[in-house]
Amino acid sequence: GTGVLWFRRDLRLHDHPALLAAVADGEVLPLFVVDPALWGPSGDVRRAYLLRSLRALDADLGGRLVVERGEPAEVVRTVARRVRARRVHVSADAGPYGRRRDDEVASALADDERELVRTGTPYAIGPGTILNGSGKPFQVFTPFSRAWNEHGWPEPAELPDDVRWVSDGEGVDGRHWPAEPDLGDLTLPDAGEEAAHDRWHEFLEHGLADYGDERNRPDHDGTSQLSHALKWGELHPRTLLADLRRKRSDGAQTYRTELCWRDFYADVLWNRPDSAREYYKPQLSGLNYNDPGEAFAAWAEGRTGFPIVDAGMRQLRSVGWVHNRVRMIVASFLVKDLHVEWRHGAREFLHWLRDGDLASNNHGWQWVAGSGTDASPFFRVFNPVTQGQKFDPEGDYVRRYVPELRHVSGKAAHTPWDVADGYAHGYPERIVDHAHERQVALDDYARVKG
Ligand code: FAD
Repeated sequence: GTGVLWFRRDLRLHDHPALLAAVADGEVLPLFVVDPALWGPSGDVRRAYLLRSLRALDADLGGRLVVERGEPAEVVRTVARRVRARRVHVSADAGPYGRRRDDEVASALADDERELVRTGTPYAIGPGTILNGSGKPFQVFTPFSRAWNEHGWPEPAELPDDVRWVSDGEGVDGRHWPAEPDLGDLTLPDAGEEAAHDRWHEFLEHGLADYGDERNRPDHDGTSQLSHALKWGELHPRTLLADLRRKRSDGAQTYRTELCWRDFYADVLWNRPDSAREYYKPQLSGLNYNDPGEAFAAWAEGRTGFPIVDAGMRQLRSVGWVHNRVRMIVASFLVKDLHVEWRHGAREFLHWLRDGDLASNNHGWQWVAGSGTDASPFFRVFNPVTQGQKFDPEGDYVRRYVPELRHVSGKAAHTPWDVADGYAHGYPERIVDHAHERQVALDDYARVKG
């Protein structure tokens, strides 16, 4: 017989439990569906990265990947009929849209007496699995992470050596294959499973030991830069956790904790599917916010006059990725200095990020806005100048992304207003007074708290 393996956020062949399940059916037809509901709202960066990752997967499959375009319930049923597959295999999706879609696909297949089989998820531990002592989901990270560690993660799945891939479609060069968007000067890392493995092994060897200290330095290349690979499942976190087990450094422990954050936010979204769009803590929905106007545009285009904020937003547009520390700084600036609601910032991020992910992004934004899980109180307002001076102490990060400040040496890049020729090359003046806006935010918070 033939089984269909429908790839989504699992664009790899190693450590792939759904592939193992499909192999048990006989021959395997590899399928990807370009779903207008996901493709439409995606930004060009994510589209381009996805297309490149699919090309790499197709190459690993000997050119057999079948790419179809359309409503998944329709397309998957048609393909399953065409190859007479009794079962269609997937890694389960944990997001609200994906879950709804998969239920529809499952019922469309069931009408034909076929089955959608969900094996594994993109997470170390499947969302919804970890519960507290009273059988409820956790709402705070630290106890979740304790339970996550105690639960433990499964070992990576073996790669079956006898997969008989079959193809009947037109493959990636067929008419359903979307054209790759023009990204202009924006550069993306190499896509695909092999590139992700190479990057991971380089990081294991050269980055992991110092990761605990280096991860807060946007001026250094101290993080793994694997978020896009994890997002698309070119690597499974379980593979990384198995490798980390052999390392005893503090860096390994910190890295595990970051992977746990990823699992945590997916778990939160699973338990509260509304939390991607709605306030996790509804008390904070009563704050006064400005409509995104000229100030929002200045933020998005990196011309607020605050060097670390502008560097971050320009990094976003030039490489489709921003360092975590800087994501927090620019997000805080939008919400607490410009008084624009987190949802607008979250949408802008999702448009540009190559790792754009609903759970990590929108909960990261809510965390900064003080309305999310955990103790990130609204009244903790990041000072963009001191944050810059602390985490980019030589000003190298600012100069890398803000050419108008390249003539300012050292730490002074964070305070061009104190430098005689600071504005000589067209760097904009600050659009707000941080101390004042901070007070406005705190007063409004006091009002809502009553
Ligand atoms: P590393 O430091 O090498 O971390 C390893 C992996 O752990 C990451 O690849 C990621 O998968 C995971 N991870 C690390 N930090 C977090 C975190 N805080 N939350 C969840 N997972 C984490 N991450 C995304 O993957 N997609 C997003 O859309 C996204 N949006 C964010 C928005 C805001 C406002 C904030 C504050 C954070 C956001 N993050 C997001 C989390 C984090 O910034 C990125 O995962 C990280 O910068 C990716 O770089 P890296 O792979 O080098 O990370």
